[in-house]
Amino acid sequence: MSILTQLSQNFPQLDFKSNFSLSPQTYFKIGGQAEVYLELKERQQIIDVVNFCRNNDIKLTILGGASNVVVHDRGVSGLVLHLKITELIDLKKSTLDEQFPNDKKWLIQAQAGIKTSLLVKKVIDLGYSGLEYFLGIPGTLGGAVYNNAHYLKFLISEHISQVEIIDEQNKVKWISQKECNFSYDSSRFQKTQEMILTVEFALKKGNKEKSEQLVRQATKYRANTQPLGKPSSGCIFKNTPNTPQLKKLFPQFSDKQCVSAGFLIDQAGLKGVRVGDVEISKKHAAFFINQGKGTSTDLKKLVNLVKQRIKQQFNINLEEEIFYLS
Ligand SMILES: Cc1cc2nc3c(=O)[nH]c(=O)nc-3n(C[C@H](O)[C@H](O)[C@H](O)COP(=O)(O)OP(=O)(O)OC[C@H]3O[C@@H](n4cnc5c(N)ncnc54)[C@H](O)[C@@H]3O)c2cc1C
Repeated sequence: MSILTQLSQNFPQLDFKSNFSLSPQTYFKIGGQAEVYLELKERQQIIDVVNFCRNNDIKLTILGGASNVVVHDRGVSGLVLHLKITELIDLKKSTLDEQFPNDKKWLIQAQAGIKTSLLVKKVIDLGYSGLEYFLGIPGTLGGAVYNNAHYLKFLISEHISQVEIIDEQNKVKWISQKECNFSYDSSRFQKTQEMILTVEFALKKGNKEKSEQLVRQATKYRANTQPLGKPSSGCIFKNTPNTPQLKKLFPQFSDKQCVSAGFLIDQAGLKGVRVGDVEISKKHAAFFINQGKGTSTDLKKLVNLVKQRIKQQFNINLEEEIFYLS
């Protein structure tokens, strides 16, 4: 029995689509079709579909805003579940616990499918502060937590108190910020099959004017440094830990823990290099741009070319920040 038949028979009320083109859903405009595709905004339906897939060995891929993924040209097998749950709840409750020992913080909860930028706007309107720098990050909150989204050295995880997940045994439960194993561009969710349902933030009471000033500052920085408005998946590579060799070559960064991947790619003279229709941005060398008919094959060739050159020139193994879906 096909996956579509299995799913449709069990969930006749849901609108499963077969051979659904994913490329238009993505920021990169790259990739083939989902074998089966479904958009869901009801929490219980999400839990039921995830349970059913796990119990019936149906491969499941979660899609948030699709701003940090590269979909394979051959498409994605199994079910692609596109999350659209967006509720935000102001708990109107404060905390003074171990995690925030010196600071009174206020708790809000947001569902994983809310757009990160919209969440930040709503939080500022509610009078809370802490998330301003994350306005302008494309995609959803689920994706931001999965990758521990960052603005310069600031990580979204610094403001998270707990996360509600569907674990690998299909149990819906809350786990603490500590249990999420957050670090730069990393979380436990990258190593598990868990699904992020809801995120709880602990935020300070803010000042709307000051918050809007921080938003303007971050927005200006992004506009000046990123090739916005062109199809991309953001930074393709993570920044790399600094090494004695890099400190010698670039003493201006000797007190920094990390060196920007974009800076190294630029230093290697690779800005503007192109494979097929995928090009290394001339504005920010860690961003690759789809100039029209880019494919995941072009992207992969360009990624390998960059990795080889950076290894040869700086003895650094660059790691991808994007996630490949197939
Ligand atoms: C122009 C541009 C600028 C960007 N700037 C930044 C930046 O400043 N800082 C930054 O950190 N990133 C940046 N990014 C990268 C990207 O926008 C972020 O990482 C974003 O948070 C990804 O969210 P998403 O919903 O689009 O995730 P997706 O691309 O949909 O998914 C990414 C991964 O997360 C998984 N996932 C998504 N939702 C869930 C969930 N609910 N449960 C479990 N797994 C899930 C997916 O399966 C996938 O593996 C930028 C991207 C672009 C295109």
